[in-house]
Amino acid sequence: MATTTSNPTTPSAPKFPEQVTGMYILAESLKRLGLMDVYGLVGIPVTEVAYAMQKIGMNYYGFRFEQQAGMAAATHGYLTKQPGVLLTVSSLGFLNGLTATANATINCYPMIQISGASDPTMVDMNMGTYEQLDQFNTAKPLVKAAFRCSHAKDIPSAVARAYRAAVSGRPGGVYIDMTTPALAEIMDASEAEKLFFEPVDIASTVAPTQSAVDRAVEILTSAKRPAILLGKGAAYAQVDDKIKELIETYKIPYLSMSMAKGLMPDNGELSALSCRSTIMEQADVVMVIGARINWMLSFGRGKWNPAMKFIQLDVEPQEIDRNVPIAAPVVGDMGQSLDMILAAMKGKTMQADPQWLASLQAESKTKNAKFQARLTDAAKLSPMNHWSALSVVKPILESNPDIVLINEGANTLDDTRDSVDMFLPRHRVDCATWSIMGMGMGSAIGAAVATGKKVVAIEGDSAFGFSGMDFATICRYKLPVTVVIFNNGGIYNGIGVNPSGGDAPAPTTLDINAQYNKIGEAFGADNYRVDNVADLKNALEAAIASGKPCLIDVQLAPDAGKESGHIGYLNPTPLIDYTV
Ligand code: ADP
Ligand code: MG
Repeated sequence: MATTTSNPTTPSAPKFPEQVTGMYILAESLKRLGLMDVYGLVGIPVTEVAYAMQKIGMNYYGFRFEQQAGMAAATHGYLTKQPGVLLTVSSLGFLNGLTATANATINCYPMIQISGASDPTMVDMNMGTYEQLDQFNTAKPLVKAAFRCSHAKDIPSAVARAYRAAVSGRPGGVYIDMTTPALAEIMDASEAEKLFFEPVDIASTVAPTQSAVDRAVEILTSAKRPAILLGKGAAYAQVDDKIKELIETYKIPYLSMSMAKGLMPDNGELSALSCRSTIMEQADVVMVIGARINWMLSFGRGKWNPAMKFIQLDVEPQEIDRNVPIAAPVVGDMGQSLDMILAAMKGKTMQADPQWLASLQAESKTKNAKFQARLTDAAKLSPMNHWSALSVVKPILESNPDIVLINEGANTLDDTRDSVDMFLPRHRVDCATWSIMGMGMGSAIGAAVATGKKVVAIEGDSAFGFSGMDFATICRYKLPVTVVIFNNGGIYNGIGVNPSGGDAPAPTTLDINAQYNKIGEAFGADNYRVDNVADLKNALEAAIASGKPCLIDVQLAPDAGKESGHIGYLNPTPLIDYTV
């Protein structure tokens, strides 16, 4: 008798196309909802899912780290209003991906993580099965909705419901626990066909009440010093024309949160981007459109004028009054809310003091000139600092406004955000609400795939380290992504002085001599290492023109950049000097 080492219970392959598997049904379910791009990292038990996707004409993007595949899916969701899809294996792959799904939920990006999972009946009995983990209950507190599929027949319904959950109301991350028994199940194709259905109105919206709209309009039109604050929820909603109409018809100055930059032009006549403090201190009415009054806005307290009246447009009722009382909540979908507001404004005139806009414009002019002088001065420095590099990056990106800008780091984030004006909606993606590091390569890939546009990622050297290996993914799929690393040799900076007083590497120190461009070389990409503005200009222009993957290591001075960038105040206490 012949001996065998194979598992005697392995069933024979189904007879395709008469028979299909749960894995095939999963791919088909996504395709029928128009979700054609999937980001992931395969292995047991989901490898065949990716083959099936490719077989039926979907695009599968294989990553080196699940977290980055998840960041790609999240960015895809933010930029398209359709859920981005992440496919992971069980246990650690699931957990690696879950970081991105949780981050998407916090940022209100729609995405669906689908993870292979062990047989739940074995997990529940703690039998110690392969990659055993109760993934469903692990994911649940971190996502907007979670489903578990234990039968192939449930897969089409789970995917459709996950889609609806991800995009309706406040968008967020959704988890589907795709168990091995469901994936493995073999069905007749004719039976499987009966499971698919076309969900009606899968992204249905809810309108605010007329009285909420009238209240908001009354407060806005009677303001003496009004302003509009735009958040990434406003950018996400894709209601660009309505926002433009409201701002331009009624001449209301606007301030954009980081990812809302470009929704209205940063350098526009009504832009008050440089007057943030003045607006906080002096405006009497601020209409908040798709932004949360959280830590990034000092919770609406402190500097904010205590007599200020907030109008807040948000799809999520629980956002209202979260940190500061809202005088006029307008709860509903952004598009419907703005339509109703614009209709109610017709024939009304703003009572705003004309001096208010004039003074903001004068302040912007002075501040912008000062800012430009700072960049011009920095351009002369050798070695370079962040501002020197940005004196080159700014004009190049501003003359290519359709490039999607990905941005993370500490000083690299703050200074790039402050320097580079944006002119088009949804062209800036950064570390967002949690202010996390480690979204760069994933987001760059998601942006390139979702938009088909060129992408430039401006990365701190530390920030790049979290996702750097997925530069290989950019190369494998030949995406038009240029990665620019501001290399100052450390977290915050690379001065190498250890405040603890010892000889060990400072916890913030990385490697000022690292040649990150060699990672480009390793994967066949164009790459440059530059240490002056002239070479940086040539490299960045060539990279953008080529439309090919490119990695540029920009050598900065090790003392360029300060501890914690602009948010040093969030350290629990000022740092102790242990060297005394
Ligand atoms: P930012 O970080 O730019 O301030 P936030 O992420 O804090 O923006 O806030 C975005 C807000 O937009 C969230 O409160 C979210 O509920 C809301 N939002 C997202 N999509 C929509 C939509 N389609 N309609 C209305 N509000 C939305
Ligand atoms: Mg915010």
